[in-house]
Amino acid sequence: MTHRLTLQSIKQVTHNVVHLTFDKPEGFDFTPGQATELALDQDGWRDEGRPFTFTSLPEEDTLDFVIKSYPDHDGVTARIPKLRPGDHVLIGDAWGAIEDKGDGVFIAGGAGVTPFISILRAKLAAKGTLDGNTLLFSNKTEADIILKDWFEKAEGLKTQWVVTDQKDPRYESGPIGVKMLKELVTPGRDICYVCGPDSMVEDLPKKLEAAGVPDAQIVTEDFS
Ligand SMILES: Cc1cc2nc3c(=O)[nH]c(=O)nc-3n(C[C@H](O)[C@H](O)[C@H](O)COP(=O)(O)OP(=O)(O)OC[C@H]3O[C@@H](n4cnc5c(N)ncnc54)[C@H](O)[C@@H]3O)c2cc1C
Repeated sequence: MTHRLTLQSIKQVTHNVVHLTFDKPEGFDFTPGQATELALDQDGWRDEGRPFTFTSLPEEDTLDFVIKSYPDHDGVTARIPKLRPGDHVLIGDAWGAIEDKGDGVFIAGGAGVTPFISILRAKLAAKGTLDGNTLLFSNKTEADIILKDWFEKAEGLKTQWVVTDQKDPRYESGPIGVKMLKELVTPGRDICYVCGPDSMVEDLPKKLEAAGVPDAQIVTEDFS
């Protein structure tokens, strides 16, 4: 089913990421971590649906997205920052992707953090704390870290930032290795979620298994 949403607001999150807030159609439902196909309601773009993840909570009365742009080519994400309040997009129903399977370690690369925004927000709303959860978030540079302040202030959440293209003693340098995972993960207790580019989604489960995490406790989603 297609829903036509009206943009209420658009805010800059990082140099190439925006937070979009839309009105929510009556009765629209989703589970934190789920995504939808979103297309621009513009001539020539209505059939160009791309997957994006809801970052609002199901009980809120808006539908929010946090979207990273790739302005080097004329794709959907290059046009997203040019949207203005009152503009429209088309979305389908919510589907699949990552869902909450229990507390643990959330490992993200770049925009792969988006399902973890709503999952962690939902956990925090339900329990008042994110105690028992860790966010391990890898980016090229500090300027690419999405919602760093929010994650750092989230009650009980342990955060570990990794930057791969910047030398800075305040951050771990990449790539994420078995040693780092062993320090952050308690095998057998923690569910390990991995979401990011295909290289990360292929590589991290092997490293998690080497760190002692059973395959059944690894949840992945490829964002490439
Ligand atoms: C389940 C799921 C949920 C997602 N949720 C989010 C989200 O919430 N927020 C978010 O920011 N992203 C999310 N993504 C990623 C998002 O879908 C892509 O960034 C988006 O589809 C890119 O659309 P586009 O039209 O700009 O690029 P497209 O034209 O669709 O480009 C497709 C691919 O081509 C590559 N490409 C593009 N331009 C070039 C170029 N000039 N040269 C070489 N290669 C190029 C890109 O790397 C990309 O992988 C999600 C992906 C999945 C699978």
